[in-house]
Amino acid sequence: MRKLGNSGLFVSELSFGAMTFGGTDGLWGQVGKLGQEEADILVKAALDAGINLFDTANIYANGRSEEILGQSLKNLGVRRDEVVIATKVHGAMGNGPNRRGASRGHIMSEIRASLRRLDLEHIDLYQLHGFDPATPMEETLEALDTLVRAGDVRYVGLSNWAAWQIMKAIGIAGARQLAPIISVQAYYTLVGRDLEREIVPLLAAEKVGLMVWSPLAGGYLSGKYSVGGDSAGGRQTQLDFPPIDRGRGEPLIDMLKAVAHKHGCRPAQVAIAWLLRQPVVSTVLIGAKRTDQLEENVGATRIVLDADDMVQLDAVSRL
Ligand code: NDP
Repeated sequence: MRKLGNSGLFVSELSFGAMTFGGTDGLWGQVGKLGQEEADILVKAALDAGINLFDTANIYANGRSEEILGQSLKNLGVRRDEVVIATKVHGAMGNGPNRRGASRGHIMSEIRASLRRLDLEHIDLYQLHGFDPATPMEETLEALDTLVRAGDVRYVGLSNWAAWQIMKAIGIAGARQLAPIISVQAYYTLVGRDLEREIVPLLAAEKVGLMVWSPLAGGYLSGKYSVGGDSAGGRQTQLDFPPIDRGRGEPLIDMLKAVAHKHGCRPAQVAIAWLLRQPVVSTVLIGAKRTDQLEENVGATRIVLDADDMVQLDAVSRL
């Protein structure tokens, strides 16, 4: 277990992302495909592997991901205090400017909707899924503070904010004695290290925990989409997210394979193990559509990369 930033909340090194839960009818329908039965199997496998943090968002499959996750917790008889449930607000949940963003009104409506869909009395970590330039930050942070004081939310986090925005929010929350920002959820991989320019040092200095999303760059770092991989080139014809610099990607995949060979493991496990070596990382949000993927990704916690591995991986991936 690791502390989530400077808070008293303990989270597992790996956490489970429920972005794949939901039908095909929502805003993110193209990535939300798993139904209740598959979700129950994955949530159980995650719990059995020691994962305690489950992450979703109101916009995933237009709320279906939250419903399915909440139902899985019930179906599996999970004790509420054994799991950390994280969700998010900010994306469009309907037409018009008041059904999106981080205004007090939208946050107050969406927290009720998320609690109803998850069928929970509180959310452990409520995150702003993006930055809202139309709403004063004070209004947003005061709304989140209201939720913490009311007991609807235990902790507050951000996701996909620029460094200056994060720093401004930390400053406002501190000056006004509002609920502190304990975590930032952001994209960070061996093939996407931009975060190291400003956000990583900022989070380290401010003791804010980093929750990494898409640690395999949507499956790319497993090597299966590269030259000679099982699905070579496949990803480009479907959803290419997050975007990848393939020129840098290919030598990196070769190195991941070499390091994996040395440790008798898989490239995806090396990519996750590298993230777990970064001191600013509190938890890595793994995505898995099947239990074999989940088991492989969980196996990354047993890989101990040595100094040579880190130097070699750095040489083919640094900014
Ligand atoms: P990954 O980068 O780990 O990609 C997961 C996908 O890669 C799986 O759905 C699967 O897709 C494939 N995969 C997973 N494990 C393996 C493996 N061992 N070998 C080969 N392929 C594998 O993570 P996600 O992009 O799914 O993101 C994880 C979580 O992060 C989300 O569920 C969500 O909670 C969060 N997130 C947050 C965002 C934000 O804006 N805050 C944005 C994106 C994600 P397939 O079988 O189709 O290849």
